[in-house]
Amino acid sequence: MDASIESRVDREVEAWLRWVPRWRPGTHRARSRLCQQCFGSPVLRAAGLDTDVPHAVQHPLSMRIKTLVDDEVETYTAQNLPLLNRELGLIELRRAAQSYHPLEGLGPEFDGVDLDAPPTELDEPYLFTFEEFAPPPSADDPELVPPPLSIEEKAALKVEMRLADDYATLVGKRVCAALRGHKPALQNAVATFVEPHVQALLADLGSTLDPHSS
Ligand SMILES: [Zn+2]
Repeated sequence: MDASIESRVDREVEAWLRWVPRWRPGTHRARSRLCQQCFGSPVLRAAGLDTDVPHAVQHPLSMRIKTLVDDEVETYTAQNLPLLNRELGLIELRRAAQSYHPLEGLGPEFDGVDLDAPPTELDEPYLFTFEEFAPPPSADDPELVPPPLSIEEKAALKVEMRLADDYATLVGKRVCAALRGHKPALQNAVATFVEPHVQALLADLGSTLDPHSS
C-alpha cells in the first residue's frame, strides 16, 4: 500500500466540494428504500456527513470513496493474490460471455428463424448483424470452465480471500482517517451550499401546511 490513498481521498473530496455548490433539491420522489451504500456508512460518519444531510448530497461522496476502495483492493489482488485474481477474472469472462444472447427470450414463433434478414443488395450490407452478437456455439467454453479446484487450491483461495478482506478493511481505515481531516471543510460546504436550500424547502412546506401564513 502506498501513500497515494490519502492523496486520492484528497482528490475525491475536492471533486465533491466543486460539485456541491451546484446541488439543488430534487423534484423527484425520494427513494423508498434505504441506500445500502450510505445507510450507516462509516465513510459518511468519518466525513461528518452522516446526519441531517440529504441523501442526494451524501451519495456522490460515498460512491466516489467506494470506487477508490474497490480500485485499491483490485490492484492489490492483481499484484498479490494470484488465485483470487484468476477466479475473479473467470467470473468476469463468464459474465461477459452471458451478457447478450440475441436468441434468448424470443417467443416460440421465432424458433429456428435466422437472426438477420438476408441482405437485399450485396452492395449494401448491414452495419452490424445480430449474428455477430450471438455467443459462439458452446457457451461452456472449456477456457471459461476450468477444472475444479483441488482441496489445497481451495484452502489457498480461502486464505487469499481473507487477505483481500483484511486489505479492504485496512484501506477503509486509512480512507476514514483521511476523511476525518476533511471533516471541517465538508461540513462547512454543507452549511454554506446545502442548508439554505433545505431551509427554503422547509419554509415552503410550512407555508403550504399552514393556512394562516398566506
Ligand atoms: Zn446512497
